[in-house]
Amino acid sequence: MGERGDGYNSAEMLKKNIISPGLCSGCGACVGYCPYIKCYGERVAVIHDCKITDGNCYRICPRASTNYDLLRRDTFGPIEFDLVLGNYEAIYFARATDESIRSRGQYGGVVTALSIFALETGILDCALMTGGNYTQAKPFIAADAGDMLACAGSKYTAAPNLSLFQEALKKGYQHIGVVGRPCQSTAARKMQQAAEIKGEKISLIIGLFCMGSFSPDFYQLIKDKKLDGYEKMDIPGDIKFARGNKETYLPFDEMREYVRDSCHICYDPLSELADLSVGSTEYDYGWNTLIMRTTKGSNLVKDAAARDVIELKEYPGDRLPLLKKAVFNKKKRVLERPDAKYLELSDQEKEFFLVTGGDI
Ligand SMILES: Cc1cc2nc3c(=O)[nH]c(=O)nc-3n(C[C@H](O)[C@H](O)[C@H](O)COP(=O)(O)OP(=O)(O)OC[C@H]3O[C@@H](n4cnc5c(N)ncnc54)[C@H](O)[C@@H]3O)c2cc1C
Ligand code: SF4
Ligand code: SF4
Repeated sequence: MGERGDGYNSAEMLKKNIISPGLCSGCGACVGYCPYIKCYGERVAVIHDCKITDGNCYRICPRASTNYDLLRRDTFGPIEFDLVLGNYEAIYFARATDESIRSRGQYGGVVTALSIFALETGILDCALMTGGNYTQAKPFIAADAGDMLACAGSKYTAAPNLSLFQEALKKGYQHIGVVGRPCQSTAARKMQQAAEIKGEKISLIIGLFCMGSFSPDFYQLIKDKKLDGYEKMDIPGDIKFARGNKETYLPFDEMREYVRDSCHICYDPLSELADLSVGSTEYDYGWNTLIMRTTKGSNLVKDAAARDVIELKEYPGDRLPLLKKAVFNKKKRVLERPDAKYLELSDQEKEFFLVTGGDI
């Protein structure tokens, strides 16, 4: 295995160790790198017994062994990390200033506003995003503001956006953005740090918060329950479907069995390796929580705020312990699972979650 836990291996091993046991997160990263790996909707499959042992597919998979210590150091440099929230320069509440973006966005529309701003200022020439809607998500290469606006809104399934990376390269894009779930942010960072597979063409990673996504069977369920005629879906606790003033809820417990197996071993609810991480505020759904992680991400936010593209307000001090507690508990639960074998962490980090950090 390589130093970064990114050891080469074959597509056959990807099938045996990750896809067949149900550990695939549906990120899509491996798909673009190999003609024998295909996406069928949100299911990823190896269609030929490829035994090449230096396969990039295995190397970039976020469920193949993943050395977070080294990935963090490669991303942020040799600094002391916040083991719970990951590295960050600042954390804010934020929202798009443009009302038309806010009305299409999941919460404050910050992801859409910042992506469009990155495009308009030349940081990106396209971004791998998720189009469609909650009744059928669709990976999409968004190359103008209209495309990006059309991708606004969360689809709570595992759209394999990264499967489009090779297509974006073929189309000649040089500065490719990734907007994705934390598993996709990890895969994108693994890709980015492997220059020989053109990962350096990934210019910005905007990671979402994510506590879980639903399996493709979810689509049939919402059809069967006649919940496919709404405009928007959200998970403020139970599952909410809304159109105008009309709302209906599905108890989360009824949906628990639809959460992908891979999500139960996911150690990264906040896209720790992204340039910027964006989630809900958990109480004011017109705003986002925005975590500025890298200097590149922070500069983008500062420029966007200076030009009135987004509005920032102070992150309330009383929310930080709540966010930390939720993330701490998730990481602890994952470390307690015997099947979370892909994780390579320092003894100090494991001890923090399993032994000493209980007063977080
Ligand atoms: C599966 C999933 C689970 C989530 N769980 C949580 C959670 O537990 N807590 C929390 O605070 N936030 C969670 N989020 C993030 C939240 O739903 C919003 O995406 C985030 O707050 C950004 O809001 P926004 O208004 O800026 O988004 P918008 O401006 O509307 O932009 C949303 C962006 O998300 C992308 N996107 C949509 N669906 C997907 C998908 N399935 N995979 C990858 N990218 C996608 C779109 O391309 C779009 O660019 C989750 C998101 C997803 C997709
Ligand atoms: S997690 Fe991503 S890289 Fe790994 S097998 Fe699934 S789609 Fe491929
Ligand atoms: S919980 Fe983790 S594995 Fe599941 S979709 Fe979210 S980031 Fe990916």
